[in-house]
Order: sequence, then C-alpha cells, then structure tokens
Amino acid sequence: MTSAQIQKQKAFNEVKSEGRKCLFCGAGLKHTVTDLGMHPLCESFVPPEKANDMEAFYPLHVMVCDNCYLVQIDEYVTPEEIFTEYAYFSSFSPAWLRHAKEYTEMIIKRLQLNEDSFVVELASNDGYLLQNFFENNIPVLGVEPAANVARVAIEKGINTAVRFFGKEYAQELKNEGKQPDLILGNNVLAQVPDINSFVGGMKILLAPEGTITIEFPHLLRLMEENQFDTIYHEHFFYFSLLSAANIFAEHGLTIYDVEELWTHGGSLRVYARHTENESLPITQNVLNMQAREKKVGLGSVAAYSAYDEKIRETKRKILEFLIQAKRDGKTVAGYGAPGKGNTLLNYCGIRTDFIDYTVDRNPYKHGRLLPGTHIPIFPPEKIAETKPDYVFILPWNLKDEIMKQLDYIQEWGGQFVIPIPEIRVYS
Ligand SMILES: [Zn+2]
Repeated sequence: MTSAQIQKQKAFNEVKSEGRKCLFCGAGLKHTVTDLGMHPLCESFVPPEKANDMEAFYPLHVMVCDNCYLVQIDEYVTPEEIFTEYAYFSSFSPAWLRHAKEYTEMIIKRLQLNEDSFVVELASNDGYLLQNFFENNIPVLGVEPAANVARVAIEKGINTAVRFFGKEYAQELKNEGKQPDLILGNNVLAQVPDINSFVGGMKILLAPEGTITIEFPHLLRLMEENQFDTIYHEHFFYFSLLSAANIFAEHGLTIYDVEELWTHGGSLRVYARHTENESLPITQNVLNMQAREKKVGLGSVAAYSAYDEKIRETKRKILEFLIQAKRDGKTVAGYGAPGKGNTLLNYCGIRTDFIDYTVDRNPYKHGRLLPGTHIPIFPPEKIAETKPDYVFILPWNLKDEIMKQLDYIQEWGGQFVIPIPEIRVYS
C-alpha cells in the first residue's frame, strides 16, 4: 500500500474504534493491529434445522494498548454466551492428551507434589489433564464453567465445580481453607475479559509457597508466523511475555520462569509465584524472552501496525490457489472444524463454492454446519468415500499428525493443503 492508502486506512480504523478502552489498564485504545471484519462466534456450529436462520456477526478488530502493550479485541460476547455449551472437548485430540500427560509428570516432579498437595485447574474442560493427577492420588479441583464438558469430568470421578473463576470464587475457596500448591490454566487467560478479577483471584487463592502455571499462545509466534486465524471472539487477549508480566505484577504475582511450547502453533508456559516469595528466583529464560520480544518491537506500537497488510496478502494467496484449483476442475475437502478454521474461512470468504465439506473427529459437530460459511461437517470416513484432490487442513498446528493419519489419500493422488503461514501443497 502507498502511504496515502495507509493514512486513509488508519482514518477508517479510528472511526470504528472510537471510545474503546484497554480491558486491563483502562487506557484509550488508538492503535489497530488488524481488522478482520465481521465474524460469527467461531464455536457456534449451526444445526441443520437452523440453516436458514439469521446468524449474529461481530467485529474482529484487534487493537494494541500503547500504555501496557496488551493486544486485545473488544468484548462483544459474554463468557456466559461462549461457555454455556462449549463444543470443544479436550479429550478428542490425542496430541493434546499427550501434552497434558507430559506436563503432569514434569510438574509433579518439579514441585514434588504428593497426596498432601492440592491442585486447582482453571477451565478444566472434560478432565483431560486432572485425570493424570487423580491417577497419582493428588487431590484436585477443576473449575469449569461449561456444564456439558464439566459433566464428563464429574462422571470420571474428577472433583469439578461448574463455576466461573474470579476474585469472588477464589475468596470462597480460601474461606473454606483451600489453598492450592499449584494453580494451572491452559488456554484460558485469553478467554476471560475480566482479566483483573481472574489474575487477582489466583493471587487470593494460591498458597504462600505455591506456583501458578499458565499456558497461552505466544503473540510473538502469532505475528512472526502469520497465525491470524487464531484470532477469534472467544480470545479477548493475545499475550506477549511482556504484557502478561505487567498484568501479573499489578496483582502481586511474579513470573519467575517461562518455557516455549509447540502447542497451538507456539505457546508460552509461564510459572508465577507471589511477588513476596523470593525463594524462587527469576530465571534467565524470563530475561532472554523479554529481550527477544523487545528486539522485535513488542514493547512499542510501531511493530504492530505493519501486521494488517501481511494478513491481507495471505488471504489473496489462499484465494489465488483455490480459484486456480476450481478452474482446473479439482475437488477440495476440509479437514477439521476448529475455531481457527472459522476465522480463516470467514475472513477469506471461502464457502462451499471452494470447499465441498469438512470432517472432524468430534461427533458433536457431525451433521452441523460451520458458522458463517455453512460448510457441512462429516465424520472423517467421508474423505475415503469421496476421494478429493485436495485436503485443506484447517488445524494446521496438528498438520504432521493429520497427514500421517490421512496418508491413504495418496492412493488416489490426493494432496494436502496447509494455509498458514503461507499456503503450501504437500503430497
Ligand atoms: Zn492497557
């Protein structure tokens, strides 16, 4: 784009962001990271009987706060709307189950947890992770607001409260004498718009010598590897270590260690403690990562503003590929129905004109339609039945696992398409 075009775009964005405030520090938001337009909620799969009804679309306009560098979207949906019937059951992903098991083994050793310890998981889903502590006779409590997934955990015998976590519930637990040695939360920090109550709640609840581990997709990787499709309404925040550390510090918590993980295209696992508990020193890992983030500019506004054009170019390349494939008479099927797929498909305007159907292992989704694009979802066997020329993998973060599972498409010359970081065909 020319500088005049960029100026014009900035002016459009300013009109649309009038009056928005940072959900953490309250400063006025002025800087757009990207504006992906209007989208339905990415987990609101449409049952066939509602195929002709109206769907609600909300903006996905990402901004960065120039006071605290928290990258965020506006709150258009309440957590109640997101979580009442959550379609994501963690136990349907073998890779994620493996990740949970490895984490449990590591943390039990590192913190020397035993039968006298107490572990609380925030957003414990269907008990996919806590079951590992449970098997080691370590007392647990899962906190999970989505009743339908919590029910599965409870049926497995895993102590689970169907509640939203925040200062109020933390105080209730503390009053009952429950102070966990470990509080963990995977991919939940971004999903709670009242982040001050959530982090403040962990401060209230944590035992004096306790540790918090939190995993979240890393903004650095999102930007470097062009993972714009991980932006959706259920993710209010996109954290760097810098912005997460700011929020924790404000609530009397200190991040003392950090690890990089492969999950969700590249995540961070941060370890936090009470700021007053200086028995756990801040590791070199923390200092190194903060330096790396500063070097690419995550501690200033300029680095964020170049991102929007990169996303637009990615869209143009994806459409170029699909248009050519259809002109050549090829058939394209999707694989997976993850939240991120819905952002990608809706942003690019890809419907059944390009992708005939998609498949997913989760039976909850079978027979439903993808939100917005109304691409139908079938069980995975559909691929072998219809023999598409291309299988377009929407959960690209699991591409190795999926390509291995589906290697039979080679029998009819089928090829895999991975859209992110840039569209690429694998045979
Ligand atoms: Zn802020």
